[in-house]
Amino acid sequence: MKLKYINNINPATGKLIKKVKCSTEKEIDKAVANARAAQKKWAALSLAQRSKMLEACAKDFVKQKEKIGRIITDEMGKLYKSAVGETHAVAYGIRETIEQAKTALAVENLQEENLRTELHRTPLGVCAIITPWNFPVSMPESLLSPALIAGNTVVFKPSEMVPLTGKAIFDIFNKHLPKGVINLVQGADEVGNYLIHSNIDMIAFVGSQAVGKIIMKAAGDKLKRIVLELGGKDPMIVLNDADLEKAANFAVNGSLRNTGQVCVSVERIYVQEKAADKFTTLVANGVKNFKYGSGYDESVHMGPLVSERQRANVLSQVKEAVKKGAKLVTGGKAPKGNKGFFMEPTLLTNLSHKHRIMNEETFGPVVAIQKVKTEDEAVKLANDSPFGLGATVWTKNKKKGLAIARKIESGMIGVNQGIGSVSGTPWVGVKQSGYGYIGSIDGIRQFTVPRKISYRK
Ligand code: ADP
Repeated sequence: MKLKYINNINPATGKLIKKVKCSTEKEIDKAVANARAAQKKWAALSLAQRSKMLEACAKDFVKQKEKIGRIITDEMGKLYKSAVGETHAVAYGIRETIEQAKTALAVENLQEENLRTELHRTPLGVCAIITPWNFPVSMPESLLSPALIAGNTVVFKPSEMVPLTGKAIFDIFNKHLPKGVINLVQGADEVGNYLIHSNIDMIAFVGSQAVGKIIMKAAGDKLKRIVLELGGKDPMIVLNDADLEKAANFAVNGSLRNTGQVCVSVERIYVQEKAADKFTTLVANGVKNFKYGSGYDESVHMGPLVSERQRANVLSQVKEAVKKGAKLVTGGKAPKGNKGFFMEPTLLTNLSHKHRIMNEETFGPVVAIQKVKTEDEAVKLANDSPFGLGATVWTKNKKKGLAIARKIESGMIGVNQGIGSVSGTPWVGVKQSGYGYIGSIDGIRQFTVPRKISYRK
């Protein structure tokens, strides 16, 4: 590997926290071999036994939420309160998986006259789990829990932006599960790339579309199974008859929360002409009142961006939009004299699809508004994207809202609300926002393969 160490930087100060050693090829091979050696025994345990161990992990996440919260805020900058909340919610995620697994993994006994078939959901074997940094505990949990409960063993590679959070997650699972069931490797793209080509059976990934495509190709060598949750460019449609205060509030929080580094969020807004002025004024007020600063400062609404590179990309999208005729209503700059990777909350209007910021993932604190004449135009623009993760529609006419929602090519759509759905439904992206899905009974089954044994009575 060319990269020997990850320079783990605190994005609020620009200072080095720690140099974290990248795994070598030999160490990755060893991690895969350890996972392989542990798999059969792990799968042979009963579901109740595996569930009990995972429940112990859930408890430990709650116990350690402040400690892990601090690691997250230090490494990637998010608000400490959100970091603690995210860690606490991991326990909920694990418990939900334990509950759903009772149905997802139960052996089905089917019969047709005197023919009998046992339908088993068998683990795939060794699963590589590769995750991003923006929700550094909940994203890994969403893949680790279903992989493990189904009887797979894993090699886990956290994002190079959050190696210490990754280590803390590994330590909890490793403490409560048999040796070799979870294995940790550290590093960036080279380590990930080596891992996906190694002797594994499945790759479960949350991250960018570009890397998702690399993984899909790599999986082809041995027809490894894959689950990919990729990015989005979530549209928000605001019709003339929407509750504009509610919509503006959602637009601001959806676009700026977690410093805009959220895959299911608000990434481009289409507002109908008659509502546009009032909506834009409300949004502008919200953006101007959105305070940024250290994640430990309880009076701020967002922390820094995760890295200098990330901030440079967002600033370049804003700059390009302004150059091509967009109006910068507020923000748009990096504060001077600050060593952290902060950026002002930003509002851009007069946008159209000729601007990069309306097409590419931004992952930064920008609210982007385009005016549209008709509902049809809004739907057409919403669907004019290779992505299809989340979307929202805002109108007081619920029937119309639902009709529009049904035309939107996204996996998760909210009408007058975010994408929060009834529990037990999957987390899913359509088009190039994903392949497969996670969460839910069917989501757990993605980490298994059905096997049938048939006989006559
Ligand atoms: P993000 O920047 O949102 O984290 P990426 O897709 O770049 O999105 O990274 C997500 C995860 O994928 C990280 O853990 C990263 O190290 C890993 N990764 C990046 N490139 C590759 C690659 N070529 N093969 C495997 N994993 C990779």
